[in-house]
Amino acid sequence: MSRFDLRLLLDPPRYPADRYAPLADRIKRLFATTRGDVVFVQAEATLALEAVATSIARPGLVAVNVVTSPYGAWFGAWLARGGATVHQVNAAPGQPIEAAAVSACVDRLAHVDVVAAVHAESSNGALNPLGALAALARSRQALFVVDAVASVGGHPIDFDEHDIDIAVIGAQKALAGPAGVSAVAVSARAWAHIDARPDFAPSSLSLAELKRNWLDRGRLALPGTPPALEFWALDAALDRVEAEGVAQVIARHRQAAQASRAGLRALGVEPWIAADEAASALVTSVRAPEGIHANVLIADAAKLGVELLPGFGEIEGRIVRLDHTGLRASFDAVLANVTAFGAVLERRAVKVDIGAAVRAVRDVYAV
Ligand SMILES: *Cc1c(COP(=O)(O)O)cnc(C)c1O
Repeated sequence: MSRFDLRLLLDPPRYPADRYAPLADRIKRLFATTRGDVVFVQAEATLALEAVATSIARPGLVAVNVVTSPYGAWFGAWLARGGATVHQVNAAPGQPIEAAAVSACVDRLAHVDVVAAVHAESSNGALNPLGALAALARSRQALFVVDAVASVGGHPIDFDEHDIDIAVIGAQKALAGPAGVSAVAVSARAWAHIDARPDFAPSSLSLAELKRNWLDRGRLALPGTPPALEFWALDAALDRVEAEGVAQVIARHRQAAQASRAGLRALGVEPWIAADEAASALVTSVRAPEGIHANVLIADAAKLGVELLPGFGEIEGRIVRLDHTGLRASFDAVLANVTAFGAVLERRAVKVDIGAAVRAVRDVYAV
């Protein structure tokens, strides 16, 4: 890091007007979608999520909002702020949602306009059942809104197959790109919903305004002063993803999750998300032993030069996250995570088998 020449960031060339549309099309290809538009939000993904909630909310709208992390809770709050009636379906802290809980909520309602959920969580390692949620939304002709910020590039997402109406995309997680520009994929049905109400423009939260100022004008330069550094970085991140192949990027995340889970089990501890198919491929969480705050373990690992992460949300302090997102979805990062976690447990007199953990990680990566 210290050798990085900060002057390289100065005076970037303008991002060419005719590159935005191809850039959006490349994002569409990540979802293998032929329907739906992609628009850019010139901000971090949380703002894109707020823009989506604000653009679809209105008095009388009935939303079933799945909450498996603070992101979902914020989304529900933004919908409610816009006048929507929000039925929150909360998972057990830090765990994925059970489709049956969402189905029970939907069944109690005479009418559902929106079903919203995070796909994969980087904050706790939960993976929500996208297919089941999609089917529930479809069964009620509700808009299906997905926070795919973390999952894009980490899990297969098929916008068309799952009949997704709105997906929010960030480049800073599995795609290993910049955090300062985001994208939103929007179906024709979602545009019709948004357009059915007078726009609240001018506003940075208005998807209708993005559509009018960019899509409807032939997708050339974005209005305002687009952040050239961020767009060049997104372009370069997509180059790297395409060179590897998105299927391979997804497979690399799956393998990192598999190896992390096998490593933890061989160490003698159970992953926080018990079922493999309900675990996200971005991070693997593990419970801190009774009586030990997660931050103590994280601080010990930092002394080894390994960055373990705390949980985000209600489970902060109770879990440690082994991060294998983006470039960290690799043998060396997984091995360092698992062995460092074993080492810090051992230091606190927890009996672990670090040798077996190393072998288990190796076995998953064995060529
Ligand atoms: C990371 C993430 C976001 C965006 O958060 P940032 O603060 O912009 O990084 C939104 N949703 C989910 C599920 C995420 O993992």
